[in-house]
Amino acid sequence: MTASALRSAEHDVAIVGGGPAGLACALELRQAASELSVTVFDRGVPPLDKPCGEGIMPDGVHRLRQIGVDVEALHARPFCGIRWLDSSAQRPLQVAGRFPGRPGLGVRRTELQRALVDSAQSAGVELRWGWKVLGTPGRKHRCLRVRAPDGRESEVRARLVVAADGLRSPVRRELGLAGRPEAPSRQRFGVRRHFAVAPWTDLVEVHWALGLEGYVTPVADDEIGVALLWSGRKARFEELLEELPELRRRLAGTRASSRDFGTGPLRQRVRGVVRGNVALVGDAAGYVDAITGEGLSVALHQARELATAVAAGDLSLYTKGCRRLDRTARGLTELVLWLQRHPAIRRRAFRALAGEPGLFERFLAVHVRHVPPSRLMPMSPRLAWRMLSNG
Ligand SMILES: Cc1cc2nc3c(=O)[nH]c(=O)nc-3n(C[C@H](O)[C@H](O)[C@H](O)COP(=O)(O)OP(=O)(O)OC[C@H]3O[C@@H](n4cnc5c(N)ncnc54)[C@H](O)[C@@H]3O)c2cc1C
Repeated sequence: MTASALRSAEHDVAIVGGGPAGLACALELRQAASELSVTVFDRGVPPLDKPCGEGIMPDGVHRLRQIGVDVEALHARPFCGIRWLDSSAQRPLQVAGRFPGRPGLGVRRTELQRALVDSAQSAGVELRWGWKVLGTPGRKHRCLRVRAPDGRESEVRARLVVAADGLRSPVRRELGLAGRPEAPSRQRFGVRRHFAVAPWTDLVEVHWALGLEGYVTPVADDEIGVALLWSGRKARFEELLEELPELRRRLAGTRASSRDFGTGPLRQRVRGVVRGNVALVGDAAGYVDAITGEGLSVALHQARELATAVAAGDLSLYTKGCRRLDRTARGLTELVLWLQRHPAIRRRAFRALAGEPGLFERFLAVHVRHVPPSRLMPMSPRLAWRMLSNG
């Protein structure tokens, strides 16, 4: 399949989902092959909101700039690193580190989506809001069954279908690409709420408790977002906040500026990211957890990998690109999740990292793809030694 071979269908590229992954794909594809017509279908109507911690890591911010988003004009707030606080120990523990280069960005999802929509419109992407994709019938999946806002159903032909339809991706399920579900006892969930208060730090704060974390992201000069992630049971925001005393103290007396918005289970396994002429992107392409706050960055990198593969006429390059991205993203996410499940080891790790802040910053540098994961290898024995001697 070459870029020119894509050009004979009703739509060259049809994208299911106008979230960050779908819109970034549209922009990357227009940049890589401007002759392709790209149409995005989303069942929702902007401004689209979603439960999210809303912190975009520096490498994700870089990708936004590259696809033409005017990052400086966003109503947003930069953050320069991460602080972990664990108050589940007798003596509260803290680890903090700064990013090696440019900052990350805290931005409300509605604002990010507005900016991506503006860029997509300027790039000549056709946007169809209120259009629900009902399925991809036919053996070759080159056809989308859609329902228009007036309720009429029709079929739309496309040479390439991009499924960027989120965590529960109906297209992924229909294509048989969904993997084994997470065991109920290990399922994790997320909920977010905003507060009208000036950020008290230029870092994203992560408050740790048993089976629960609270993320505080500055999203404007007068607003923060708080996302809570937890495992194993249904729970409400207030109830969870009870278990994070330091965060509860900080938020006492402040006004909520949004309604609670939750989702889960977070982990979604996939059997592959390409089937025929359909490619999965963003959360639809599989998701581990929000614990490292990089779903948006991964989606933005995947969008670039997909456009490179399409321009080269070889979708297998996309599969390889996703595997490459996964090696860093998945490895660190699984490691941090493991620390969450083992609080005694986590506290040792916190103490070890607090005693040598350079180590934590090295982890952050790998996390934001500033240096390759191999740069962690020389640090591992030192970390192990500190963990043993700090017990
Ligand atoms: C609690 C929580 C906190 C998080 N915190 C962070 C963070 O701080 N930083 C970070 O980078 N990431 C974070 N993430 C992850 C991030 O939110 C996701 O990775 C990101 O939203 C993925 O974008 P997407 O475009 O793939 O999916 P979505 O944003 O979910 O977009 C999917 C779109 O598809 C549309 N759609 C679905 N089905 C259909 C259909 N049948 N027809 C038409 N349209 C359809 C939907 O309307 C939606 O607009 C967090 C996630 C959670 C749950």
